[in-house]
Amino acid sequence: MIDIDDVAQAADRVHRAGTWRSVAARKRGLDAVAATLESHRRELVDLAADETHLAPARLEGELTRTIFQLGFLGDEAIGGTHLGATIDHSDASWGMGPRPDLRSVAQPIGVVAVFGASNFPFAFSVAGGDTAAALAAGCPVVHKAHPAHPRLARRTADIVVEALRSIGAPEALFALVEGHDEGVQLVQHPLVKAVAFTGSTSAGRALFDLASARREPIPFFGELGSTNPAFVTPAAWERRAGAIADGYLASVRLGRGQFCTKPGFLAVPAGASATIAAAAKAGDEPALLLTPGLRDGYETSLSDFAGLAGVEILEGGASADAAPPLTLLSTTAETVIAQPDLLEREMFGPASVIVEYDDATQLEQLAPLIGGQLTATVHAESDEDVAGLLGVLAERSGRIVWNDWPTGVSVSFAQNHGGPYPATTTNTTSVGAAAIDRFQRRVAYQGVPSNLLPPEIRDENPQRIPQRVDGSLVDPLAEGDR
Ligand code: NAP
Repeated sequence: MIDIDDVAQAADRVHRAGTWRSVAARKRGLDAVAATLESHRRELVDLAADETHLAPARLEGELTRTIFQLGFLGDEAIGGTHLGATIDHSDASWGMGPRPDLRSVAQPIGVVAVFGASNFPFAFSVAGGDTAAALAAGCPVVHKAHPAHPRLARRTADIVVEALRSIGAPEALFALVEGHDEGVQLVQHPLVKAVAFTGSTSAGRALFDLASARREPIPFFGELGSTNPAFVTPAAWERRAGAIADGYLASVRLGRGQFCTKPGFLAVPAGASATIAAAAKAGDEPALLLTPGLRDGYETSLSDFAGLAGVEILEGGASADAAPPLTLLSTTAETVIAQPDLLEREMFGPASVIVEYDDATQLEQLAPLIGGQLTATVHAESDEDVAGLLGVLAERSGRIVWNDWPTGVSVSFAQNHGGPYPATTTNTTSVGAAAIDRFQRRVAYQGVPSNLLPPEIRDENPQRIPQRVDGSLVDPLAEGDR
């Protein structure tokens, strides 16, 4: 039985010793984890398929993404942009009065607790994006395993520890813990300085409240639920009905609908749902959901939604089979406008709601009704004026998708996987280069002698990282002399 206090103390000692501060060490460690995962690919995919019921091909792709993500964040760590190293030399003529020598740089926040997700057993789990981003920021990680894949979690953790040991990283840099009470203790432990969480809105909110109620509240980076509405203009539907129906159905079906980015609502012109229902008749391959608990939750949310006034089942519906079929519900824009809370009901599984509108102006009435979202999608023609619609959606979601579908979250420099609550608790991103920023804390140094400054903000810039010097960006890499 793991003692959370022991784990947190050991991780905090690593943080205080500063042995993981070097960006070069972080890069070596992340690369080692990536390579060791790759060398155990077959074993890991088999274990994941056994525990999650997800298709091996999907799991292969997810592991590839996870390995790429580790390397990508390792490159980010060594590149140093995330440190935001900034130097303001003293300036007697500064506009508001003489300025002292001021320098600031982001530093690792301390021990990070990471809660893995059930639906991404690699990319958002033990060696997933939050763990990679925290390690890239220079922080020790204590990972709370998701109970949906315990054997995979333990095996992945062994691999992470083995890889980090191989490059001489401190032993307690990474640890795995299991159990509900252990998760709660972790969030409340005084030596834990930030939490990253991916999961349901209810669990995320409960843990967020615990993190906020601590004597020393800490940042809780929760990536929660989302219904990811998609809006189709009459012109787009008229010109591309078949492709839109197929793309929507493929996106809803991906991972049996157990994606936080599944399009849960599709607004289309009146009459379009018949075309989509016809297209849905082909190609459905029911499969077990991640856990019996999630299956029960899905059935409850589906039957609650289907029982609402003004809602009909177009395709599929409640089923006694262990593997539920694709289910399409239909309703009207009037119904949603009268009960906008419908748009917040996530059905975590293979179901989605088609909302028919009579008049294109109803799209602009629907858009302001959506709550905080990870994504919002627009299908329109390039000669249509939808700037107003995009503006409303950008206020409410973290990613705007144009003539494409929200499932599939590329790991890149510009990516943003977040959004206003309840999509996240903090408006930050858990995917992409900026994911690292969550686990840093900026410190400014005023008048401190050079030999006592962190190397990143010394004038001689020994690590050759980008610095902002007196307002101008200086990047030795761009100048080719790194
Ligand atoms: P979940 O029930 O939310 O559980 C997540 C973690 O929290 C688990 O480790 C769980 O372990 C713990 N937990 C649950 N309830 C708790 C409580 N009251 N107090 C403390 N800890 C608690 O996970 P899930 O049902 O698999 O999540 C599915 C949801 O995740 C979907 O709604 C989906 O949209 C969302 N999701 C979001 C993203 C995103 O990026 N935003 C990505 C993937 C999934 P214990 O049971 O051991 O406590």
